Amino acid sequence: MMSTEPYWKTKSLAEMTTVEWENLCDGCGLCCLNKLEDWESGEVFFTSVACTLLDGETCQCKDYPNRKATVPDCIQLTPDQVETLSWLPPSCGYRLVHEGHDLYWWHPLVSGDPDTVHQAGISAKGRTVSEDDVSVDEFEDYLCDWPLTVLDDSAGHTP
Ligand code: SF4
Ligand code: SF4
Repeated sequence: MMSTEPYWKTKSLAEMTTVEWENLCDGCGLCCLNKLEDWESGEVFFTSVACTLLDGETCQCKDYPNRKATVPDCIQLTPDQVETLSWLPPSCGYRLVHEGHDLYWWHPLVSGDPDTVHQAGISAKGRTVSEDDVSVDEFEDYLCDWPLTVLDDSAGHTP
């Protein structure tokens, strides 16, 4: 009998098809924010300074297929990286599934609506400045912790 459970509950990250993998991204844009690393502790801190290619309103990459030409160090997430990247936000679809959690109600795969991630206040929408407008020396002035908001069940895991 076919499983009636959605694929993110039944497949591991490594078992997903390319389309399933891509759809697991909720479109929050949080991983496109610049981060600062403490050289001594290795701890990573978010800033609200966005990558030059991030559209601060839609939270989409402005040139995703060709982004490496502009941003060579843009990370292409893989299942292995989800395991090792400690800074992935707690709300990130990849992190949630990797850690054995369900997706929240606002994830587009659950709601059927790409806008709910913005409506729920999860995404970077309207909260960023572009790195084009800030010198690297000033990144420290933009440290922020809202991308790391720990979500509890009141934020609505699906049952
Ligand atoms: S943090 Fe995760 S869910 Fe959000 S845009 Fe990045 S990969 Fe997608
Ligand atoms: S190049 Fe695109 S996907 Fe990569 S960090 Fe920048 S906005 Fe995000």
